[in-house]
Amino acid sequence: MATLMPLQAPDIRSAKRLVVKIGSALLVDGEGLRRQWLSALALDVAEARTRGTQVILVSSGSIALGRRVLHLPPGPLALEQSQAAAAVGQIRLARAYEEVLAPHGITTAQVLVTLEDTEDRRRYLNSRATMETLLGLGTVPIVNENDTVATDEIRFGDNDRLAAQIAVTVGADQLVLLSDVDGFYSANPKEDPTAQRFDLVETITPALEAMAGDPVSGLSKGGMKTKIMAAKTAVAGGCAMAITEGSAMRPLKALEQGAARTWFVAQGDPQAARKRWINAMKPRGTIRVDAGAVQALQAGKSLLPAGVVAVEGNFGRGDPVEIAGPMGEVLGRGLTRYTAVEAVQIAGHRSAEIVAILGYSGRAALIHRDDMVI
Ligand code: GLU
Repeated sequence: MATLMPLQAPDIRSAKRLVVKIGSALLVDGEGLRRQWLSALALDVAEARTRGTQVILVSSGSIALGRRVLHLPPGPLALEQSQAAAAVGQIRLARAYEEVLAPHGITTAQVLVTLEDTEDRRRYLNSRATMETLLGLGTVPIVNENDTVATDEIRFGDNDRLAAQIAVTVGADQLVLLSDVDGFYSANPKEDPTAQRFDLVETITPALEAMAGDPVSGLSKGGMKTKIMAAKTAVAGGCAMAITEGSAMRPLKALEQGAARTWFVAQGDPQAARKRWINAMKPRGTIRVDAGAVQALQAGKSLLPAGVVAVEGNFGRGDPVEIAGPMGEVLGRGLTRYTAVEAVQIAGHRSAEIVAILGYSGRAALIHRDDMVI
């Protein structure tokens, strides 16, 4: 008989792919950049990498840094002013990470994203592929929203949700939000002394969501509300999420050693979540493959154009399509990296011929194995 195991909190020492969100208030204070704190964080990152964990940092702070440099007045900024501040601050922000991580032999990469990069499926696949390559090359991507070009209607606005979206995009198994509070409380602990911190949240219920209250103002954009929204995105994507206090030195080490925090338990793993996501989409066409390709797909390989015998439907890049065998039997589904028109042209050809046929070089696979459910 199966016994129910008590729910265990995740351990960041076992994370395969870890996203850490760093809020502006941790990084920048009245004096400017908190360099010592950042150097200590770099130690945490280096340790995680030594354990074999891939790390992505989502860092705020460009506006906070830039506004100081530009001597902009305190208080809310006009959109153009915050965009200008971000342009100035982002260079410094990226440089600061580079400076603290380089002594550990870690190469950093700057990735600036907009909301559209995650909402548009084609752009989403592109950013995913880039991140995958950066991680494969051993770099630590430093991600922020591209605040200089993102205007209010088209922006995330807060890095809590951005970090969750990045975590799901790259199939991370753990996300840590380093914050100015040490977890998720039943009420605002600054106002209500009876507020209780949750250690472990298994399900984000409407009642729990209602406890989040409204976003707070200050340096950082996110409040508990955006953190709960982030948690919903993360856990649905198979990624566990923690909220913990980050201002003391070495916050990841502290988390490892049992610091106060709230963990939100993931629903399954990132692969399973991705499969659910792909399966839930309506296919826009069918790609029929030969017997050799059927074998390759069943062995977990990507679908190369060489194995394609027919293309039906009218789909664009990033669209979901059905994959069928030689007799038309449905084998699975995937997100295509070429349009239907392109797929017809490259069908039956080796990947090396793609550039000669289309006039530009695309991805080697028509459907990458990560974007496929067989
Ligand atoms: N992207 C903004 C910045 O770097 C911060 C957004 C946030 O604080 O959540 O300044």
